[in-house]
Amino acid sequence: MTISVGFIGLGNMGNPMALNVLKQGYALTVFDMNPNAIKNVVAAGAKGASSAADVLANADVVFTSLPGSPEVEPFYLAAGGAIEKAKAGAVLIDLSSVLPATPRKIEAAAKARGLKFLEAPVSGGVTGARAATLAVMTGGDAAVLEQVRPLLDAIGKNIYHVGPAGAANTIKAINNMMSTVNACAMMEGFAVGLKAGLDLKTMADIVKASSGNSNALARVDRALIPRDFEPGFKVALMNKDLETFHTIAKEVHVPVSFSNMAQHYQQSALAAGLGEKDTSVIFTLIEQRAALAGKKA
Ligand code: NAD
Repeated sequence: MTISVGFIGLGNMGNPMALNVLKQGYALTVFDMNPNAIKNVVAAGAKGASSAADVLANADVVFTSLPGSPEVEPFYLAAGGAIEKAKAGAVLIDLSSVLPATPRKIEAAAKARGLKFLEAPVSGGVTGARAATLAVMTGGDAAVLEQVRPLLDAIGKNIYHVGPAGAANTIKAINNMMSTVNACAMMEGFAVGLKAGLDLKTMADIVKASSGNSNALARVDRALIPRDFEPGFKVALMNKDLETFHTIAKEVHVPVSFSNMAQHYQQSALAAGLGEKDTSVIFTLIEQRAALAGKKA
């Protein structure tokens, strides 16, 4: 029997992930509240739905990739939401990065209706989503993961079962904290080097071959040199992930420090109206503070 797959939320991440599911030959129906977001996937052979309910009525497996808990919780749990509208026996998989409490609530509601639910936040950015090389962190029933593993293989080859619902979004928030701290440290470091008269590309090449290397260095060629700050990964979403990290840290009573500085930068970018830009736009704020703005990076 061929399974029917639904995909809801085709933004920067959902769009390439949905295309990769389609490429594996699955019958795919897609919906996004922004009709432009699904156009290329429909042109590639998916069926466009006019509402989330249309997707949910027919799909055996439904993926969601929405911004965060404020969107995900009502989507699943509100009256007339996904838990109510899903086809009997369906598997619902949320790929969004959310508070750990969110998948716990959704899993309980899904079970009460005889549905299966898996939290599956991803990492690897738009580049990884396009290349189908994402890390997929799952939380919930391991048997549900095994049921949908071939589908998850379509979006990323590094698939982990972390623990019960909430566990995957816990490690996801920790990962994003580490990723953004690396990026902010890299951008501050290179601002100092630029002010001291060094060349950005030369500094990046040296650090890539040295002990300061990290994935953050990929931003130099991708965003800092071309000065391309289109997302990618929006400041508003990284700010949300740092909120999640701080919520978890407070719950388990771990005093944390670096994440506060990284969030200070996200907050500055939000205050400057840059929330919909890529997180690399923080470099422009560091340049302004360093009185580097206007100098060619
Ligand atoms: P995005 O803002 O580009 O996309 C979100 C999409 O959801 C939009 O197209 C929006 O129209 C749609 N949407 C919102 N509410 C909806 C609803 N109720 N019904 C239907 N559609 C709805 O965000 P993104 O960058 O694609 O991120 C999606 C999730 O993946 C977020 O949780 C984010 O934190 C996470 N994530 C993003 C990246 C990245 O690099 N962009 C990497 C890993 C994880």
